[in-house]
Amino acid sequence: MKRQWVFAFEEGDGKNKMLLGGKGANLCEMTQIGLNVPPGFVITTDACLAFLEKDRLPEGALDQTLAHMKALEKKTGKTFGGADNPLLVSVRSGSSMSMPGMMDTVLNLGLNQTTLKGLIALTGNPRFGYDAWRRFIQLFGKIALGIGDEHFDAAMASIKARYGASQDVDLKAEHLAELATEFLAIVARHTGKPFPEDPYQQLEIAIGAVFRSWNGKRAIDYRRQFKITKEMASGTAVNVVTMVFGNMGSDSGTGVGFTRNPGTGENLIYGEYLVNAQGEDVVAGIRTPKAIAEMEQEMPEIYRQLQELHARLEAHYAEVQDFEFTIEKGRLYCLQTRNGKMNARAMLRTSVEMYREGLITREKALMRIDPTLLEQMLAPQLAADFKGKPLATGLPASPGAASGKIVFDADSAEERGQAGERIILVREETKPEDIHGFFQAQGILTSRGGKTSHAAVVARGMGKPCVSGCEAIIIDDVARRAVIGETTLHEGDVITIDGSNGKVYAGEVPTVEAEFSEDMATLLGWADEVARLKVMANADTPDDAARARKFGAMGIGLCRTERMFNSSDRLPIVQEMILAETVEERQAALDRLLPIQRADFKGIFKAMKGLPVTVRLLDPPMHEFLPTTAQLELEIAHLHHMRDSIKAMEELPETLKLLSPRLYQQYSDGLGKLSVSMKAFKDGHLEEDAIHKKEKILKKVRALSEVNPMLGHRGVRLGITYPEIYMMQIQAILEAAALCAKEGTEVHPEIMVPQVATVEELCRIHSYVKRLHKVVELTHGIKVDVKFGSMLEVVRACLRAGRMAEDAEFFSFGTNDLTQATFSFSREDAENKFLPSYISEEILLDNPFEVLDQKGVGELMKLAVSEGRKTRPDLKVGICGEHGGHPGSIQFCHSIGLTYVSCSGPRVPIARLAAAQAQLLETGGAVTKNA
Ligand code: ADP
Ligand code: MG
Ligand code: MG
Repeated sequence: MKRQWVFAFEEGDGKNKMLLGGKGANLCEMTQIGLNVPPGFVITTDACLAFLEKDRLPEGALDQTLAHMKALEKKTGKTFGGADNPLLVSVRSGSSMSMPGMMDTVLNLGLNQTTLKGLIALTGNPRFGYDAWRRFIQLFGKIALGIGDEHFDAAMASIKARYGASQDVDLKAEHLAELATEFLAIVARHTGKPFPEDPYQQLEIAIGAVFRSWNGKRAIDYRRQFKITKEMASGTAVNVVTMVFGNMGSDSGTGVGFTRNPGTGENLIYGEYLVNAQGEDVVAGIRTPKAIAEMEQEMPEIYRQLQELHARLEAHYAEVQDFEFTIEKGRLYCLQTRNGKMNARAMLRTSVEMYREGLITREKALMRIDPTLLEQMLAPQLAADFKGKPLATGLPASPGAASGKIVFDADSAEERGQAGERIILVREETKPEDIHGFFQAQGILTSRGGKTSHAAVVARGMGKPCVSGCEAIIIDDVARRAVIGETTLHEGDVITIDGSNGKVYAGEVPTVEAEFSEDMATLLGWADEVARLKVMANADTPDDAARARKFGAMGIGLCRTERMFNSSDRLPIVQEMILAETVEERQAALDRLLPIQRADFKGIFKAMKGLPVTVRLLDPPMHEFLPTTAQLELEIAHLHHMRDSIKAMEELPETLKLLSPRLYQQYSDGLGKLSVSMKAFKDGHLEEDAIHKKEKILKKVRALSEVNPMLGHRGVRLGITYPEIYMMQIQAILEAAALCAKEGTEVHPEIMVPQVATVEELCRIHSYVKRLHKVVELTHGIKVDVKFGSMLEVVRACLRAGRMAEDAEFFSFGTNDLTQATFSFSREDAENKFLPSYISEEILLDNPFEVLDQKGVGELMKLAVSEGRKTRPDLKVGICGEHGGHPGSIQFCHSIGLTYVSCSGPRVPIARLAAAQAQLLETGGAVTKNA
């Protein structure tokens, strides 16, 4: 059987996006559910791949295309290349993943001198005819023949100037005819050939050009940046669609819309339109369009048709749609639809509302949100009470606030951004070729274009703040400055933009954390009902703990005690403890630390009332609490210098007497006093004492210095060699728990030992805990609930998990250290030296310190979980490395049966959603509760 390369909209399978591309599949689907789509057909992505391989259309593809053109002629009653009622088409790209603006589309194809006359005669509208004609020559010239826009734009500008037209729409038919003639000359000049008159030849060239755009630099860069793999999208389809005209007068127009507001989620058609214009105009930002809300007044009948389209699209797709439409003489056509990209706030609100409207299930409400999107919600905003006067106001195109230095082009943005500067990309309008500048920019500001302009769409997709259409800013990117009223801004000046309200401020404006919205609370409440994994937070202070609890943490999975040691009021005592030469001296320092630690723990337990708090005993090597050798040497050198200076001052009178008796006479009074006070100072031995003390520390620092501190004397090894340190901490934890219990605060402390490699290490520490537990319960006369467990961050510990579980009631994977140990990479060295090239060379697919290495580290985890649970079936197992907040890694943790993940406070919401999704993915969404 012959291979089918081409599908009419009536026959294509709307579910097969891989084959038909997203745009093509949806055009088919919309046609089949009876929406008003202009007739057309799709040439498949397979045909594209075959074309790219051989640089010509595969066998049969052209014939099938021609047959479908004949069918189109029949359906429309028009003739392709006909003089009377000419058929014109658009040739549009579209792959299975939406890549807005990355590939090419040609409109008005089929126009030539003959069909142009036909079109004009038919419509009785020469202005419309010439407008379509000049647009076609430019688009075809650019896309199919590779002639840069600037040549055409220059001709347009000079025509406008010649006839005093301020906007495109002000040009009359004869001006456009003149422009078209100039355009034809531009084409002839660049290609050395006349513009192709044969519509079939135009069609074939255009199809080839669209197919080739798949491998254009822009498209390739985009796929790389957004990690679009061949499995996700391979080749672009070509859609050939009968043209409908939005530029046929004031009862025509074009626009783009969202079925709900993509910035807030509000259930109201949101978008923009232009009267008497063709599709490209809205996106390109040539004129600033009107909000769809205005259409209700201006074109009520069209607005009614739009509302009907809204209802039918959402009822069918059960998802917010982003659609393109054109109105031709009062009739609405839908030209494209796809799932709307929204910011986090809008995703949350639409999830909650669509569930309540009965449009989607709870599972869908949870599954449709990418957990990492929630990070945006927790992104900084300008302080609500900030009252500064904005320099200018544009359109709120993508929410969030950002400050940075102005740059006027994408290349500089990329360069300076990569160098670590905070950058705001400022342009008249952006184009797809500016995309690399977006990646490095903190935010984007444009002086033209609407909320659906390229800049706005791309910024929203990336979750970056954007203000668009800020017409008050006059940008001169050659002189590299921008003028707003009285103010002139130069490249490198700092501005702040607020994409939530469109305001632009001079200088840097302070930002505040965003609020945890009601919609987020609702959705995450649903997530918690579904999820099997619990989500804990890593928190070291009562403030951290309180904040994590607001984010929905179900306890603390990692409380690092060393953070407490580092605060300035404690460090001297900690240093005393380290420098102690005898056990008694050390104990004296520990006795002073005990009440401080006890108070810390009490604060955290109270903040986490009723929830488990896992405290890790001291982990880092001791030298981290002492100054470095270099710093000490420098300080000692300074002190020596000072001592010498003092001595010299003391001797000054005698020296002066020798040098000049006259001068000595003159100053003898003051000098005498000076010398006396210097002597007094010296007798105080201040500097001597300081030198002595520093030298002692230096000696200790040298003694503590290790070749490889991260693999040295740290963690449980400290607890074994200095038992009194761990005992003090254990006592503080237990006493804090006892005190809380006495006050009626329910607490669940869990004591966790870091860096365990052997079972014996764990047993030793366990014996301290058991002993102190009894003592504390006796002295306080109250029962204290405590659990004892081990971190698993050493390879050997994972291998010994079965025996470890005899002592440990819980395990917590410290996947940062475990990853280092499994790879034998030191993280710092790896990330600074070779990991980037490992990733670009695809030796590793991801940075294993960010994305859990399931194949290696994951295997160790699996083994440890299963061995541990053989010993102790109810063994609680968690993860407290950074991976605990990464959705893909969370899914893995779910799949190997962990009890909880623990991550930093602000990532808790992300982890809660990811945990629910992991469960839904495992059960195929089958946990239908109340849906
Ligand atoms: P993109 O993927 O860049 O949006 P499209 O293929 O969707 O490219 O087309 C670009 C613009 O041209 C859109 O505004 C679209 O609505 C408009 N357009 C495409 N085909 C037609 C057509 N047959 N009639 C009228 N306008 C069209
Ligand atoms: Mg489109
Ligand atoms: Mg560790």
